[in-house]
Amino acid sequence: MIIESCNLCPRECGGYRDNNIGGGFCGASTVMKVARIAPHYGEEPCISGEKGSGAVFFSHCAMKCIFCQNYEISHGGFGKEITSAQLAEKFKELEAMGVHNINLVNGTHYIPRIRESLLLYKPKIPVIFNCGGYEKAESLRLLSGLVDVYLPDFKYSDDKMALEYSGAKNYCETAIKAIDEMLAQTGDLRFDDNGMILQGTIIRHLVLPFGTKNSINTLKLIKEHFGNRAFVSLMAQYTPCGKAPEHKRLNRKITKREYQKVLDELFDSELDGYAQELESSGAEFIPAFDLTGV
Ligand code: SF4
Repeated sequence: MIIESCNLCPRECGGYRDNNIGGGFCGASTVMKVARIAPHYGEEPCISGEKGSGAVFFSHCAMKCIFCQNYEISHGGFGKEITSAQLAEKFKELEAMGVHNINLVNGTHYIPRIRESLLLYKPKIPVIFNCGGYEKAESLRLLSGLVDVYLPDFKYSDDKMALEYSGAKNYCETAIKAIDEMLAQTGDLRFDDNGMILQGTIIRHLVLPFGTKNSINTLKLIKEHFGNRAFVSLMAQYTPCGKAPEHKRLNRKITKREYQKVLDELFDSELDGYAQELESSGAEFIPAFDLTGV
């Protein structure tokens, strides 16, 4: 596959991509690369459950968050190439392990290839598309009918912050349009009798150090744009990764006071959702990117 000028993600960098060359901002060629395929227990309870979520961690990224906890694969591009047919076989292997769902982590820059895999084999368990909220609606439409659950981030209400921390222009407007498309595709949330997710969209927001204002305004934006359709997962697990230890505002975990302020807004806004325990912050949520299961 050759893409002369890639416009798949909102960055629209126009990079040249073929089977060997990843000439765009994300650095991804047209062949998928993955760093780990294995049961994962670090997601929300309705996703990880007791048997784990069948996570596929894709290499490279169209965002470049300086605090990324998967820095070595998102920025560094560590991983191994995999064809669409091979990935479809991996879905079957994960399913046979008894995981609750297939969890496609950060695959925005590979959407056409992921579509090919899902057309070859649509798992009988829910398929989750786990992403940064920085997607184009028209690209997401390629996944319509193939993805059961969207798990987007809504990272910022402040575009300047999005540009500084993630190199992403027009993040807020883009995330709103992307999540609108996700909600249109999945409809209302549905869970099975054990509380495991079957269908729907959960909007994640990670609270950052010195980020209280950003978080409060993000929750307000979510409420304003999506109203009662929104289901939020508020995350407290921030720990300095990637370039964050060298950054004066990102080099620490969040404080109890910061998190409480955001929690207060979540309750005041009457948004439906989850809030992670503050004690969840730490590196134990980060799996080893050692090609397990690839
Ligand atoms: S997916 Fe990669 S190459 Fe394509 S527009 Fe986005 S950053 Fe550029």
